Amino acid sequence: MASALSERLSRLVKTMRGQARITEDNVQDMLREVRMALLEADVALPVVRDFIARVKEKALGQEVVGSLSPGQALVGVVHKELAATMGAGGVAELNLATQPPAVILMAGLQGAGKTTTTAKLARHLIGRKKKVLTVSGDVYRPAAIEQLKTVTQQAGAEWFPSQASDQPVDIALAAVDYAKKHYFDVLLVDTAGRLAIDEAMMAEIRALHAALNPIETLFVVDAMQGQDAINVAKAFKEALPLTGIVLTKLDGDSRGGAALSVRQVTGAPIKFAGVSEKIDGLELFDAERHAGRVLGMGDILALVEQVQQGVDLQAAQKLADKVKSGSGFDLEDFLSQISQMKNMGGLSGLIDKLPAQMTGGKTPQLGAADMDRAERDVRRMEGIIRSMTPLERRKPELLKASRKRRIAAGAGVQVQEVNRLLNQFEQMQGMMKKMKGGGMMKMMKRMGG
Ligand code: GDP
Repeated sequence: MASALSERLSRLVKTMRGQARITEDNVQDMLREVRMALLEADVALPVVRDFIARVKEKALGQEVVGSLSPGQALVGVVHKELAATMGAGGVAELNLATQPPAVILMAGLQGAGKTTTTAKLARHLIGRKKKVLTVSGDVYRPAAIEQLKTVTQQAGAEWFPSQASDQPVDIALAAVDYAKKHYFDVLLVDTAGRLAIDEAMMAEIRALHAALNPIETLFVVDAMQGQDAINVAKAFKEALPLTGIVLTKLDGDSRGGAALSVRQVTGAPIKFAGVSEKIDGLELFDAERHAGRVLGMGDILALVEQVQQGVDLQAAQKLADKVKSGSGFDLEDFLSQISQMKNMGGLSGLIDKLPAQMTGGKTPQLGAADMDRAERDVRRMEGIIRSMTPLERRKPELLKASRKRRIAAGAGVQVQEVNRLLNQFEQMQGMMKKMKGGGMMKMMKRMGG
């Protein structure tokens, strides 16, 4: 995986300490890094150029506040601009404000996820108390018609049958008719896709659009498509008045740069994100969060704000390497970490701000009370660890009752406190395991730059 933007920038930032403002001089190198980060996230080149020009305009002359470096400040500008571009207009729900049935036309290449998304949308709409009908216009692949039937049933919606011998427009109009007679609120029309842009496919979907006059025309695009997404988006945009985008397969390991390209090229809002193959794997698109993903840095900005100077970069690096190499997290590391946390405004605030992906999607098992105590007792904890022999620090499993008594006496505390420390250490060890391969230490290193 490409190194994160903030990491790249922090390397540059070292050469510009003490500069209080983003200037024409220092911005060029930084923008080059931003450009690389966007290209690595698969944003299409013309879109990158455009975007960089906008960021430059916004960034020039910006004051660099507090303890942030110009690089960190620029990350902030880039993140904000990215979120604004991808999310312009705020969260975009489906528009159903029309005489029922509200017709939703699904467009996109074969394999993009149209059929799956049709069923997911059916489920989403049923959740909003809508009566939903689906129909497939894919007369070329009988299997696709069957697939829609299966997933529609899974979604709990009704499916309108179509025959491979019929014309897509006729099928769709029959479905509209049926939907009217049976008081459906929404009709979702799945369409045939091809593996690549193809004039016959475009003509057909244009004809469908003309006949149906849908209130929503959704362009479904695979986030893993990367650079190609821009050409596909262009072709669909020229063929159809798109009202929204669904970005599928965001659960894959793509950095999701296609979102920016597709948004920019079509001008249509990204309404939903597909996040699994399952029927409930659809979310409203969250531009803020996605901007972090494109930049490869999670929800790092709040953390940037909190981190003060004084992180020991070398120690952090050593620890990061150690965790990465799988050689384990021991009490020696714990000690070094405790000391660093002290410099960063305390454990509890920091843990709160860690991106969810780094803590396994939930708040770590350390409760608020534990965290407060951790802060208050940092000195004590240091004292206890320093009373251990180097071997004991590397192999905490050696710490049986008699050794604990000796350590407690050495540190001037009760044995219970030694036990408590070992508990906290184990919890931290568990967290470090989850963060393996790019965790907190790597982040601390970036931000200390
Ligand atoms: P269509 O040809 O455009 O109708 O595409 P399909 O709906 O048949 O989807 C193609 C493949 O992508 C199927 O294997 C789906 O299960 C898968 N798929 C669709 N959306 C998602 C998603 O959001 N995440 C994942 N992981 N897979 C998806």
